[in-house]
Amino acid sequence: MTIEKILEKAKENNPTANLDLIKRAYLFASKAHQGQKRNSGEDYIIHTLHTAYNLAEMKLNSTTIAAGLLHDVLEDTEITKEELEKEFGKEIAFLVEGVSKLGKIKYRGKERQAESFRKLFLATGKNIRVILIRLFDRLHNLETLRYLPEEKRKRIALESLEIYAPLAYRLGIGELKGQIEDLSFPHVYPEEYQQLIERVKDKYQERERYLKKIRIKIIKKLRKENIQPIEIQSRAKHYYSLWQKLKRYDNDLDKIYDLVALRIIVKNVEECYQTLGAIHKLWKPLPGRIKDYIALPKPNGYQSLHTTVFCIDGRIIEFQIRTPLMHKEAEFGIAAHWYYSEQKGLKAFLKKKITKAPENELDWVKQLKDWQKETKDFSADRYLESLKIDFFRNRIFVFTPDGDVISLPEEATPVDFAYAIHTDIGNHCQQAKVNSKIARLDQALQNGDIVEIIVNKNRRPSKDWFRFIKANLTRTRIKKFFKTELEAWREKRKKQPKTEIKREKREVVAVKPKAVVKKKTKILVAGQTGISINIARCCSPSANNNIKAYITKKHEASIHRADCENLKRAQKKWPQKVIEATWNEK
Ligand code: MN
Repeated sequence: MTIEKILEKAKENNPTANLDLIKRAYLFASKAHQGQKRNSGEDYIIHTLHTAYNLAEMKLNSTTIAAGLLHDVLEDTEITKEELEKEFGKEIAFLVEGVSKLGKIKYRGKERQAESFRKLFLATGKNIRVILIRLFDRLHNLETLRYLPEEKRKRIALESLEIYAPLAYRLGIGELKGQIEDLSFPHVYPEEYQQLIERVKDKYQERERYLKKIRIKIIKKLRKENIQPIEIQSRAKHYYSLWQKLKRYDNDLDKIYDLVALRIIVKNVEECYQTLGAIHKLWKPLPGRIKDYIALPKPNGYQSLHTTVFCIDGRIIEFQIRTPLMHKEAEFGIAAHWYYSEQKGLKAFLKKKITKAPENELDWVKQLKDWQKETKDFSADRYLESLKIDFFRNRIFVFTPDGDVISLPEEATPVDFAYAIHTDIGNHCQQAKVNSKIARLDQALQNGDIVEIIVNKNRRPSKDWFRFIKANLTRTRIKKFFKTELEAWREKRKKQPKTEIKREKREVVAVKPKAVVKKKTKILVAGQTGISINIARCCSPSANNNIKAYITKKHEASIHRADCENLKRAQKKWPQKVIEATWNEK
C-alpha cells in the first residue's frame, strides 16, 4: 500500500478532493510513527495507509481520509491533540481523538463489553465518521491477526463478531460486515470453520457453473423485454453468515437458496419491477419469498427486490434486483450519503463542515439517540440486554392508518406500537385495531399490519402490560409512568397534617366509643383482642393492607399500614411502642 494509490483513489472518486491535505497528513503520520513496527514486521505507517485507502474507496471526503492516516498518532506517538489541531484544524483533531477514545476500550468480560458498546454508540451519535475509521482500522487489524498471540487473536476476533460486524451491518455496509465476520470466524470457531469450508467447497463451485447458464438465459429474456442490464453479478454468500443460517435450517445445505445468488443491476426502479416480471415469466417464484425492499426498505436503508424461483432443472435460486444507486448504498451504506453531499461541487465542499449525520438520517440512528437518553442510568448489564433486544434482533414494520412506517422488534404488540408513536398515546392506550379489526393489546403484530390505537384520556398503563411488551423503550416508558405517579403521591402525602404524634392525641380524644368497638373485633394487636383501637387517618389501612399498631400514651393502639411513613418515623424514635397487629380473619 502506498500514498500514491490513496491519492489516485481519492481523485478518481472526487475531482475536488483536497490531495494536499492528504499528503500532509501522510508526511506528518510517517514522521510520528517513524521506527515503529507492526507485529507483522511492517512499518507502522502501512497500517494507517490501509485504513485510509479503504476510506478513500468508500468515497469518504479528504478530511476523513486524512484522519484515517493520522488515526493512531494520539494513541501511539508523542503527538498531542493540541499539536494536531494546530496542524490540521479542529475537525481532524476531533475525529482522531474520537478514534483513540474508542481504541482504549478493551473487550474483557460482559461488564466491559457493555461499556464499550455504550462508548461506541455515543461516538456514533456524535459523528459517524469516527466509527467508520475505527471499522476500517479494525478490518486491517483482522487482516493481520495471524501475527498476534492466540489469546489476543481470539479476543479481538470475538469482539469483532459481537461489536464491529453488527455495527457495520447497522450502518448498512453489508460488504464490510461480511468481511469482518469472515476474517474473525476462523479465530473464534476454528473447528466449525474448517468443517464448513470442507462441506461447501464443491457446492460453491458447482453453483457458480450453474449460474453461468442462468445468466445467458436471463440476458436473452431481458433483451426481448427491452431491458439492458447494467451489470449481472453472481454473489457467493459469506461463510460466517452461511454458518449462522445453517444453524437455523437444520444444518441442511439444500435449504439454503442464496448460497450463490444472482444480482441484476438495471437503470431505474421501473426496470427493477419489469425485470422481476421477466424472471417470473421464465421461472415460477416460490410463494412468500418475493421481498420488495424498494417499497419497504430494511431499517438500515437497504433497498432491492428479492425473489427466489424454481430455475432450470427445478433448482432454487435467489435473485436480487436493484438500481446503481441502491447498489452503491448497499455497498457503502451510510457513507454513501456523504459521498453524494460532497459531489455537490467545490464551493459547497470547501464550505461544508460535515459534522452531523445527513438529514435523512437512518431511522435506527434516531431511535438510538432517544433510547440512549432514556437508558443512561441503566447498569452495564441491563444496557447490554436492552441493546441486544432492541437493536440486534429482527424487526418488523407496521403502519399507522396514515401509512407511516413504524419499526418494532419481532412479536411486538399494539402497546409497543402505541409507545413507539408517542408516550402519551401509550399511557392512554385503551384498545387497538389491527387491519380494521379489534385486537387484543397483547397480540403479536405481523409485518405489514395496519395498527390503530384508540385512546381514552382516563385510561392509564397496567402492570399487566409488562408480561407481553417487547420493546425496551416501552418498558422504560411504562416504568417511568409508575415512578412519576408514585412520586406525585408521596409529594401529596408530605403536605398532609404535621406530625403523627400530635395528630394522634387529637385522634385519641376525638375517638367515639362506637367506632372503636366496631374496629376492635376486626383487629388483633399482638395476637390479642380487647385493646382500644383507632384507625390512623394518615394512611387509613384497610383489610388487604399489612398493619402495625402504635401504642399511645393512653395505652390505645393506633393502627397504621406497615409501610406508613409516619409510623416509620415514630418507630425510629420509640421502637418499643410499635407492635405487631393483624386483621382478625374471623
Ligand atoms: Mn490502528
